[in-house]
Amino acid sequence: MSQTVLKLPTGQLYKMQSYYKASLKGNPPPGAVFSAKVNGCSVTAYKSGKVLFQGPNHEQESSKWGAANPSVKKKTNKPSPTESQHAPPSSLYTSSHAGSDEAGTGDYFGPITVACAYVREDQIAGLKAAGVRDSKSLKDPQIEQIARKIVQMEIPYSLVTLHNEKYNQWQKKGWSQGKMKTMLHHHAYNKLLQKMSPNQPEGWVIDQFAERSIYEKHLRSEKATLQDNVYFLKKAESYSIAVAAASIIARTGFVRQMDKLSEHAGIYLPKGASQKVDQAAAKLIETKGSDCLEQYAKVHFANTEKAYKWIK
Ligand code: MN
Repeated sequence: MSQTVLKLPTGQLYKMQSYYKASLKGNPPPGAVFSAKVNGCSVTAYKSGKVLFQGPNHEQESSKWGAANPSVKKKTNKPSPTESQHAPPSSLYTSSHAGSDEAGTGDYFGPITVACAYVREDQIAGLKAAGVRDSKSLKDPQIEQIARKIVQMEIPYSLVTLHNEKYNQWQKKGWSQGKMKTMLHHHAYNKLLQKMSPNQPEGWVIDQFAERSIYEKHLRSEKATLQDNVYFLKKAESYSIAVAAASIIARTGFVRQMDKLSEHAGIYLPKGASQKVDQAAAKLIETKGSDCLEQYAKVHFANTEKAYKWIK
């Protein structure tokens, strides 16, 4: 249960009581001065000076009173090291929540994929046991195996793919990768919400790739609005199993698309952006002409130019 407990001087309790007078509940529990119910939070104040804030908005509501008295200790679960203004309450990681992550942003060939997964509290241990952790620390065959387990556990998820042609169109319109990722994460979460409806995650953690203000600016520029209870966190996969699961699903989606693209191209298209990639691009240009890159690669990467050095 998410809650905050404050210890306040008695005088303060009466101030609070009059503040909440429109929301007071009829029967306060034994020992209580009053209890009230406001949007997303129940407030119960005891004669001892202890005030309990319970419900999804407990932090927001209690901060109205905790700040008034700096000597008051706010009791929440221990904060994570990166907890900041927009980071989630650390209790979110140990309860049901959604998380999202992307793959393919640094790879010349292939799409960008973004996955969003919803993990219930009772599935967290099972996912950890299945080896779910940040996909960057895993090899592709392992990732594939873990992804299969995630599917078996019927974790609700969504996966969106930005194919190369569309990527290149967006890039030529002047979209940064940050804006592309913003719209993909946004879309992935909406898809997940649709799948889960009428249930709703308590919160959504995005593996942070941009400041919240920038993310919101991108949304506004496409007339989209940020959903409720969204949190941005760097290295989120090490705190949130939902983000870790999403990173595995996104990577699996990316690898599958790469296999398809290689098959379609008739040559092996390496991942990443190394010299091997330049050489593969050169081969594609030689066999199919330079226009074909639009459907296989993120053409604005420096690899395109380097590829021409390999053409005799
Ligand atoms: Mn990430």
